[in-house]
Amino acid sequence: MTETGQAEQVVDVRDDHSYSLNVDALKKILMRDEVKDLPVVVVSLAGAYRGGKSFMLNFFLRYLTSPVSAREDGTWLGDDSEPLEGFSWRGGSKRNTVGILLWSEPLLTSLPSGEKVAVLLMDTQGTFDSKSTIRDCSTIFALSTLVSSVQIYNLPGGNIQEDHLQHLQLINEQEDGAKAFQVLEFLVRDWANDFEYAYGNAGGQLYLDEILTIVPDQANELSELRRHILDSFETVSCFLMPHPGMNVRRPDFKGSLNELEPDFIDNLKDLASSIFGAKKLKVKTINGQPMKARDLFTYFNTYMGIFNSNKIPSPTSIMKATAEAGLLLAVNAAREQYETAMAAACGEKAPSVPAVDLQELHTRELSAARATFIGTKKMGSKEDAELRLGKLTEVVYNISVITYDLFEHSCVSQRSL
Ligand code: GDP
Ligand code: MG
Repeated sequence: MTETGQAEQVVDVRDDHSYSLNVDALKKILMRDEVKDLPVVVVSLAGAYRGGKSFMLNFFLRYLTSPVSAREDGTWLGDDSEPLEGFSWRGGSKRNTVGILLWSEPLLTSLPSGEKVAVLLMDTQGTFDSKSTIRDCSTIFALSTLVSSVQIYNLPGGNIQEDHLQHLQLINEQEDGAKAFQVLEFLVRDWANDFEYAYGNAGGQLYLDEILTIVPDQANELSELRRHILDSFETVSCFLMPHPGMNVRRPDFKGSLNELEPDFIDNLKDLASSIFGAKKLKVKTINGQPMKARDLFTYFNTYMGIFNSNKIPSPTSIMKATAEAGLLLAVNAAREQYETAMAAACGEKAPSVPAVDLQELHTRELSAARATFIGTKKMGSKEDAELRLGKLTEVVYNISVITYDLFEHSCVSQRSL
């Protein structure tokens, strides 16, 4: 089986530790016609370097590019001797790069509800080998959490440690108690204590309960952190993955099934059906609003901006940026609604002598657009939202004057040009 597409580096860290967004690559992935208006599911794998992230993503790629029947009966795993390809794994010459990669081909699939979605696979890279790169890696971790709907936190050390949890303090809790993120899955690699907690999600849940339980005499800091994580994600789960076997150490290891331990393969099947199953395959939402691929493009831009300032952004500034990007999208959606309705009644494809009073049409569609904006759930202050609503009214009014010659009560101005 050959996968189409390739890994595209969408976020790069420059030598001076500033971050750059590869706008062209991101546009090619998110803004193509068959994808841009679809809700997106963003599955990210993040965590320390050389932890088997890219290796695992390539199995996810196989799963997602297989027909539904093969996903169900396990034959998606492919042939015994097929080398594992896709995201580049085992390091190689680019081993010191830090950044975020996306698979160039969004994988179109349906949710159990029948809704069509685009699934994006996101890989992260980082080294954690010096002070400055540790900062870069935390930044990449934060960014990937902010733009994903399923964050798989890959833990190669065989357990969950306190400092792993600390990376998850990203965003302030919302006043209305809504959760900022969707799915967090701790993926513990090389789990060696299967006599204590069994491999898979069931054992993982018990292990996670032990780690995240808030006990009475716990230091305040520790219990706060735990509460914060549980309040930030709608679903927090854990999967205990067995060791793939000693072949991984061989220089000629290709990642084919016949080189892997049967236990590892069995759990690979369970992991893929759990991550891409009904409970975890979640559309990216921000503040309860489902994201389309093109909205995600806006958020990428917004977050890059704040991570590029000299200090590590505080949870407050992340919230603020999220709120601002949300307002921008809400205005754009309302404006588009107005434009579509006007074009249908009065645009180029409308009858040449429209049977509408333009002033009336404008007033009606403006108030419908305002209602859409007002009805969109928003973060941030009332004042900011009011300001944007004013802007919306202004923009829509200008469109009506320029495109439709509002004062002449005529649809024709643009057409006669
Ligand atoms: P990444 O830096 O996290 O993307 O790691 P890679 O996917 O490039 O894998 C790094 C190395 O770990 C490769 O040599 C893989 O063969 C090996 N590897 C992959 N999965 C596992 C695993 O579950 N356990 C162990 N011990 N090694 C693994
Ligand atoms: Mg990698």
